[in-house]
Amino acid sequence: MQPAAETSTERHAIALASPPTLPVEGSDEVFPVSRILCIGRNYAEHAVEMGHDPDREPPFFFAKPPHALVSDGSELDYPVATSELHHEIELVVALASGGRDVPSDRALDLVFGYGVGLDMTRRDLQAAAKKAGRPWDMAKGFDESAPCSALRTVTDVGHPDHGEIRLEINGEVRQRGDLAQQIWSVQEALSYLSSLVELRPGDLLMTGTPAGVGAVHPGDRLAGHIDGIGDLTVSYRPA
Ligand code: MN
Repeated sequence: MQPAAETSTERHAIALASPPTLPVEGSDEVFPVSRILCIGRNYAEHAVEMGHDPDREPPFFFAKPPHALVSDGSELDYPVATSELHHEIELVVALASGGRDVPSDRALDLVFGYGVGLDMTRRDLQAAAKKAGRPWDMAKGFDESAPCSALRTVTDVGHPDHGEIRLEINGEVRQRGDLAQQIWSVQEALSYLSSLVELRPGDLLMTGTPAGVGAVHPGDRLAGHIDGIGDLTVSYRPA
């Protein structure tokens, strides 16, 4: 990727890693990632399986650190500090530009492209956090918690609002839904989120998962797919 423009003569006291990047299909450029923002409970059946009424709740958001990103094809260690790692297959939206209070009918103008992502979740830590009224950060934002495919640009795929989204583990379908089942569309979610924080170029939004979340074990191979967007495969090393 291009080095960041030099805007100051300040010298850093320590060296920081450059931002993580995602490949762009059909391009030799990569997409630098600023933040990974995530929407909770955006498919009715998943909200119900987690014990919530999908009709009553406005969208809510959480975040993963950018360095939680994992590229397609990676082999991962089962994460520390959990015995209940869960998969959540999600449509990922990548932003080329940002803004505050973006109207819904302008929100798609911000989008660079789309990918297939996994919002990996330490469900046991999340359940404990929910029970205690504590933050979800350690349940959602742990190391290697955000596998994501290469991005496909808007020029390439437009703005998908329907199409199958599914996840297979070791060849068996575990999650299957359709983007048309999202409670909050991409444009509505981006618009709402921009009323809470300023959106920025390089932001990713994970747009929620369909029903069927469940446990991942050492040795499992996860294969995600979204019609018209692409595929994502990651494997967990055997114990
Ligand atoms: Mn999720």
